[in-house]
Amino acid sequence: MSKQQQTAISPTRTENYPEWYQQVIRASEMAELSPVRGCMVIKPWGYGLWENIQRLLDDMFKATGVKNAYFPLFIPIGFLEKEAEHVEGFAKECAVVTHHKLEKGEDGRLVPAGRLNEPLIVRPTSETIIGDAFSRWIRSYRDLPMLINQWANVVRWEMRTRLFLRTSEFLWQEGHTVHATKKEAVDRTHMMLTVYKRMAEELLAIPVITGEKTVAEKFPGAETTTCIEAMMQDRKALQAGTSHFLGQNFAKASGIRFQSADEKEEFGWTTSWGVSTRLIGGLIMTHGDDNGVILPPRVATAHVVLLPILKKAKESEAVMAYTRDLAERLGRILYHGSPLRVEIDDRNIGGSRNWDWIKKGIPLRVEIGPKDIASNAVFMARRDLDRKQSQSVAKERFLEEVTDILDDIQKTLFDRALAFREENTRNIDDAGTFNAFFTPENSEQPEIHGGFAWAHWCGNGGCEETVKNRQNVTIRCIPFTGEGEESGVCIECGEPSEKRVLFAKAY
Ligand SMILES: [Zn+2]
Repeated sequence: MSKQQQTAISPTRTENYPEWYQQVIRASEMAELSPVRGCMVIKPWGYGLWENIQRLLDDMFKATGVKNAYFPLFIPIGFLEKEAEHVEGFAKECAVVTHHKLEKGEDGRLVPAGRLNEPLIVRPTSETIIGDAFSRWIRSYRDLPMLINQWANVVRWEMRTRLFLRTSEFLWQEGHTVHATKKEAVDRTHMMLTVYKRMAEELLAIPVITGEKTVAEKFPGAETTTCIEAMMQDRKALQAGTSHFLGQNFAKASGIRFQSADEKEEFGWTTSWGVSTRLIGGLIMTHGDDNGVILPPRVATAHVVLLPILKKAKESEAVMAYTRDLAERLGRILYHGSPLRVEIDDRNIGGSRNWDWIKKGIPLRVEIGPKDIASNAVFMARRDLDRKQSQSVAKERFLEEVTDILDDIQKTLFDRALAFREENTRNIDDAGTFNAFFTPENSEQPEIHGGFAWAHWCGNGGCEETVKNRQNVTIRCIPFTGEGEESGVCIECGEPSEKRVLFAKAY
């Protein structure tokens, strides 16, 4: 990095936020675009993060009685037709398999052959095929509740793609449950949303707002969609997870029936809920700075990198021995139940080595040179602090305090994100202020403006659509029943309103 340059990532967030995002991912080596348009290659530094999220979330699911299963990648076209809203919601973005083999054409190139009688859909979500399985698995109320989760990839054909945020293929989990009563299904919908909120806030250090989607924004076929919404550093909202109450719609479409305790045949009540690799995009946009990503310790691919300083050959052996000993001792320390994840980078490449790890966002960097060995110390840098705040710490003290330091980084990231959201959230009561708030020209940085606006809405889809068409501002969520009741008038039409809803531009 040249001396003139102030930051590792160019452009900075304020110069060009979307481009900053792409460059952060490139510099961190988390993912890259693939030869297939709209699809991504997730590299080890990004995939390790996903594995940690997956493992911790999986434990949280299982603690609520959920079990994992796996269903086919392909869905018969007829299955998707079963639920009218569902087919309409997904028809525009489906990958369809029409052939089952390849043959050499006249010019020697491979061409699809063997046309299928019934085309297959590459799953955009698995409600219908899991519904089919449930219709066979469930006979009696004794089989309920049925609590199943699947970790899988799904495909939704996207024309405009961005790594982690919007790609044609992405990784996710989809939970599907069946219950004997409406109340149980509604309770499960909220229980899983609570799991997501905890995951976002405690593991990813991303503060979220929970609520219910409007009819226009809900999942196709759902009775209600609940969601967690987070604010990114360009002040746009990111929907980070959803939990749907599906009523009996999918049960009726798939024939999920059971015999009740008093021997009546009834349809089940179902839910579904999911989060995806989009969370990684949200994490980058919440915590990244102009030097790259900052990984929250709870899910970080690695916690500590040891950087032995190997300038002179005669000292190298001692430095490496000290480094390996430290790595081994760190690896025996448990952080929230799992061993610390430690990397050693012994490349002799000068200052760019330190910068590589800053850009990767590893929580702690530890340099070890002959001087540190002489004083039985390490030279430690926290990724959440300025580089100038790096300091020498006695080795034993470092080993004793390392988990506390990681927890402190985790807390700092959450507090910082929450303060940012609060600074950029306001109650707005008149249309003029509302429109000005969401107009880019009112900002010194057109890419970064607006924020979250709590404003009154009459509940009419027409008002919602007008606001959306005018400024691309959508209702992110409606607070749950009993929350935030306060009378006012709709920001658009002036009709009475019972509560404020959350408006924002969104990813
Ligand atoms: Zn209105």
